[in-house]
Amino acid sequence: MNTAIQNKLSELLALNPELTQVSSLGSGHINTTWLLTNAGQQFVVQKLNTHVFENPAQLVNNAQLIEQHLSAKQQANTYPLDIVKHISTHQGEHLIIINNAYYRVLNFISQSASEDIVKEPKHAEQAAFAFGTFTRALLDFDASSLYPVIADFHNLAMRFEQLNTAIATATNERLQQCKTVIDYCIAQQHLVKELAEVTADLPTRVCHYDTKINNMLYCSNTYKAKAVIDLDTCMAGFLLYDFGDMVRTFCCAEAEDSTNLGKVVIRKEVFTALVKGYLAPLKSAISNKEQASLLLGAKVMPLMLSVRFLTDYLNNDVYFKTTHAEHNLERAQNQLALYKNILSNQSWMHKALMQ
Ligand code: ADP
Ligand code: MG
Ligand code: MG
Repeated sequence: MNTAIQNKLSELLALNPELTQVSSLGSGHINTTWLLTNAGQQFVVQKLNTHVFENPAQLVNNAQLIEQHLSAKQQANTYPLDIVKHISTHQGEHLIIINNAYYRVLNFISQSASEDIVKEPKHAEQAAFAFGTFTRALLDFDASSLYPVIADFHNLAMRFEQLNTAIATATNERLQQCKTVIDYCIAQQHLVKELAEVTADLPTRVCHYDTKINNMLYCSNTYKAKAVIDLDTCMAGFLLYDFGDMVRTFCCAEAEDSTNLGKVVIRKEVFTALVKGYLAPLKSAISNKEQASLLLGAKVMPLMLSVRFLTDYLNNDVYFKTTHAEHNLERAQNQLALYKNILSNQSWMHKALMQ
């Protein structure tokens, strides 16, 4: 962060700029995040990514509605986690515009740690417990009051349409490179219908839409769940999306772009721990049908990501950042390997989910 911005932020927060220190924080891929310290006070500053979030005011509005709802529960002792809240400037603003860039300030959750890969099953359990607790506390929140910050984010039918459009316009060279992957994905299109049928009579909930392990904080001493963070994508949706993305990102020890496909497998102990943590706060509040639907999410999410990576590969890499020509294709193959692994494990996964 350059000094002029640092000084401006200090001034807006009524802090002495000479005492302000700023350092990078975390490893988020969307926004740019810093820790701002000033005479013992600590704040998180984020520069919002306006390529991903076209309307930052809507995102801040959504997060604040959720903050208020959770704060009321916390006061009534029914929400056991810490809450990330927007901090206003001395003029009462929660969204700060400097040189056409958007910033916001959040309270720093101290004595916390985040990690990028689930190392142990008990960490998956705590993370899933945090997301389940967050969801449970928002069951009585009207999800339709949230702006759809990214319209159609998890719309599988639309993701397949985008793939079909990309196939129609791609270069022959790229088409040839990924023909088998295209054929396999297209053959899975029946999931669109299955998803529509299953969700037709499921309740719409507040979904986090980014239930990665680094979007929750652990207590750095005890490794117990401390807070759910990164509420940027909270929107109305189905629980199976959040559950599916946890399975996709917690259960496989390999990175999303690993080409070591033999290792792209579900770790059984991690899945079992995830289910335990997630259902502890939620089981008594959802129907058996909704509980059973979660497994469909575990199939839909890696397939959807595979379709999106493949689409971007065919579109010559316009959306996801790539480091080499085949990067998006490798990611698509990785997520398909995970999808296939889940298909072959679904019988015990269903049992673990429903017991
Ligand atoms: P992105 O949208 O870019 O993923 P996040 O909101 O997830 O940004 O923040 C990136 C990282 O910064 C988190 O994974 C976490 O390590 C750290 N972080 C963010 N907010 C807080 C907070 N309020 N307290 C402590 N650490 C935080
Ligand atoms: Mg994040
Ligand atoms: Mg985010």
